[in-house]
This record gives sequence, C-alpha cells and structure tokens, in this order.
Amino acid sequence: MKFSPEKLRIPDQRMKPFIDPDEIWDLIRNTRPDKQRVRDVIAKSLDKHRLTLEETAVLVNSAGTGLIDEIKHGARELKEKVYGNRIVLFAPLYVGNRCTNNCKYCGFRASNKEAVRKTLGDEEIIREVEALEDNGQKRLILVYGEHPEYSPEYIAHTVRLVYGIKKGHGEIRRVNINAAPLDIEGFRTVGKSGIGTYQVFQETYHPEAYTWYHLGGKKKDYDYRLTSLDRAQEAGIDDVGIGALFGLYDWRFEVLGLVRHTNHLEACYNVGPHTISFPRIKDAVSLNLDKQYETSDEDFKKLVAILRLAVPYTGLILTARETPDVRREVLQYGVSQIDGGTKLELGSYSETRNEEQNLNREQFKINDPRSLAEVIDELLANDYLPSFCTSCYRMGRTGEHFMEFSVPGFIKRFCTPNAILTLSEYICDYAQGDTAEKGWKAIERNLEKLEPGVAASTREKIERIKLGERDLYF
Ligand code: SAM
Ligand code: SF4
Repeated sequence: MKFSPEKLRIPDQRMKPFIDPDEIWDLIRNTRPDKQRVRDVIAKSLDKHRLTLEETAVLVNSAGTGLIDEIKHGARELKEKVYGNRIVLFAPLYVGNRCTNNCKYCGFRASNKEAVRKTLGDEEIIREVEALEDNGQKRLILVYGEHPEYSPEYIAHTVRLVYGIKKGHGEIRRVNINAAPLDIEGFRTVGKSGIGTYQVFQETYHPEAYTWYHLGGKKKDYDYRLTSLDRAQEAGIDDVGIGALFGLYDWRFEVLGLVRHTNHLEACYNVGPHTISFPRIKDAVSLNLDKQYETSDEDFKKLVAILRLAVPYTGLILTARETPDVRREVLQYGVSQIDGGTKLELGSYSETRNEEQNLNREQFKINDPRSLAEVIDELLANDYLPSFCTSCYRMGRTGEHFMEFSVPGFIKRFCTPNAILTLSEYICDYAQGDTAEKGWKAIERNLEKLEPGVAASTREKIERIKLGERDLYF
C-alpha cells in the first residue's frame, strides 16, 4: 500500500530534510539513563517494538559496565530469540574509483593525485566475477566513485553484466549497489536492472560536520544526499540501505541520526531501510584526520548492540574494515550480514599484486583479510549458520527482515531451510579441508530444530543438490 498523506492528515515529509541537530543534541544532553529506565527500554525492544529517539538516547547515554552489559545481553537475546544463528555472506566488488568529490576521509577523493584511477572494463568485470564465483560467492555489492562515467545507464549495464556471468555452478544471484545518489529517473534506470539493495551512506548526519568533510563535487550538498533514498523510493526501489561513517562526528549523534532516518522512511513509505551499515574510518592513502571523534572499540560494540535494540527488524551489516576479533564479538549482538574474502583493490580478485602495487588502488585498508572459506569455517565452528540465501528478493517477498521479525514461524519455514540449502550447495561445490564435515554437522543440527514436514522437504532438496541440481529454495 502506498503512503497517502491526505488520508492520514499529516504533513507530507517526503523528500524533505528530516534531521534537526538541536533536537538530537537536546535528547543526548537531557536524557537521564537511570537503571530502571534502561531496563524498561531493553524490555520494550525485547517485546518486539521499535524504540523512539528518546529511548535510543537513554541507551546511548547509559554508562558503567553493568548497564552496558545489560544492553549487550539484551541485543544478544533479541538476536537469538528472533533471528537465530544465520549470518548472510557477501563480497564487495569495486567497479571504478574515479571520483569528482573530495571527501576528506577517502582514498578515492579527487585531490588524491597518488591514487591510480581505474574503471574495470567488461572483460575485467567478467574475470573478477568468475574469480568470486570460484570462491562460492552468490551475493555481491558493486561499489563506484561519483563520476559522470558512472551514469545510471552504466551502473545498470554492469549489474546486468554481472547477473549474466556463470561459471560451473557459480552465479551471482543478488547484486546490491553502493554508489552516489541519483535523481528519480536515474534510480528508475538502475532499478530496472534488477538490483537488490541500493545503499547510500550519509557519512555524518550532522550538517556542519558534513560540510567540513565534503569540500567539493556534488557530494557537498547535505540535503541532496539526505533525501537520496526518498528519491529511490519514489522511483520504485523499496529496498534501500543507510549508513553512517563512524569517526567523523560524535557516535551518539550518528546513532540517533540513523534511527531518525529509519523513522522518516517508515513514516513516508511504510517501509524502513532494509539494512544499516556502521563503517568506522580506516586508514587510507594520505589520510590525515583529526582523531577527536574516533570511535573506540568499546563504544563501537555498544553502538552495534544499541542499533540492534533500537531497530529490531532492520538488517545490520558488518564489514571487513573491522578486525576478526571485533567482528567475532559484535556478531553476537545481532549483525545479520558480513563480507568474506574481501579485496578492495580494483581488479584484485582475479590478479595477484603485491602490497605496494595495491596501495594506491584501494579506498582504505581492511582489517580482516581472511578468505571466504576461512570466514565460513569459523562461523561453523562458532555454531552460526552461514547463508547465501537470495530467496525473498527473488520471490518478491520484500521487507523480509520485517517478516522474519513479525510473522510467527517465518524463519523456520523460509530462512533456516534456505540457509541450509545454500550452505549445502557451498559444501558440495567449494568447501575445502574439514569444512565440509563441519558444515554437514551444522546442517543436521539445524534440521533437527525444524518442523518435521519442513525438515523432510529440506532433506529432499538437499539430496537433489547432492545429485547436481542447484538453486533450490522455499
Ligand atoms: N562514492 C560513493 C559514495 O560516496 O556514496 C560510493 C561509496 S564509497 C566508495 C563507500 C563508502 O565507504 C562511503 O560511503 C564511506 O562511508 C566509506 N568510506 C570512505 N572512506 C573510508 C575510510 N577511510 N574508511 C572506512 N570507510 C570509508
Ligand atoms: Fe568519492 Fe565516495 Fe570516496 Fe567520497 S567516499 S571521495 S564520493 S568514492
């Protein structure tokens, strides 16, 4: 159902900037987090209700190990109760690093003359995607700088190209996008190519800080970026991802900014963002930023747990910017997607280069260089269920996180069986060493938790996968 402001008699807020920095600072400064209040807020979230800005402020202001542990515990309980142990895997593919913007924190900024500029040609994209498929990847996010070369038509072309690349049993079943904001027509063009999620990160929700970091190019327009996903919605893309780059401004402000953005999209379009990303700034070529707002590991862990509680039915994405140790810990607080086998240097999935050759081709440094195989092996060892599921998106079941969250039995009927089927494919086609054995054991443990009928039809599909069929799902 489309949003109809006339019917609800509330002002139409679509395409209007929605961040009021004074309101956010007022909440941060004046919300007192006493123990009982923090517990009530956690209980509200565990009762499956999204938190208000004020309630989120209570959590960001809470201090002392005891209370913070209660927040982390609440996030863990919510994740376990509602989502179970699935973790969806993906990889980023950097298509081009030409850029007309000058974001102070990014290795691709126009003023960085040391950066080697490159846009992958079709043949190179094919080689990269085949290499990713050889590792077992099924879900990619294509990433682009902001440049006239990366027009909506070009982005749509690369998406279609990627969907068409098949090698052995390898294929990419979901292509997401992280690129510059477009106008409505541009979003429509990209939408028609069959993308999954369109991500645009606001970087910082604080308007003045934003102006300070974004010196030139189109990106310097805060409002145009803030309303970009409204335009995506108007163009029919209802699967959007938001994010903030932690380290640019006070992390508490950014958490409230993300929650405000979620409320805005829900109020205007009846659907919140599909995912929230919370990258932290990492070292990039000639990066020389003030560390005033650096987000410590402790604050980072706390903020992931708070986001889980604040927006319980939105997917949370954690990337290889973080170390394996940090990733291991925050996975427990409700992260739903991670990347594995990530390489950021353009063209490096199919070519091997040394550190020095790569240095000027990457946007920033990653801290988890493990292969997809290693990441999957560790997930299995820690009792997670790795998933490459793309079923909801292909069946037109949009808003799947909301369904997972609110439709009783949805996870056991769809998500777990589909995770099991995609893991079975991975084991048959790509698993090395004792990962296969660990994987089949994990599958058995998870099958036992399903209704007998669902378990039986999942087992029947696993047998068909073993005989060579692929892409079976519920
Ligand atoms: N050019 C598009 C844009 O700016 O929206 C595409 C995105 S950029 C290639 C992907 C994201 O990487 C940015 O939105 C930003 O949040 C993040 N990023 C940029 N520099 C970074 C750094 N030094 N460390 C960590 N993340 C960074
Ligand atoms: Fe360009 Fe995006 Fe980097 Fe900014 S963050 S310099 S827009 S690639």
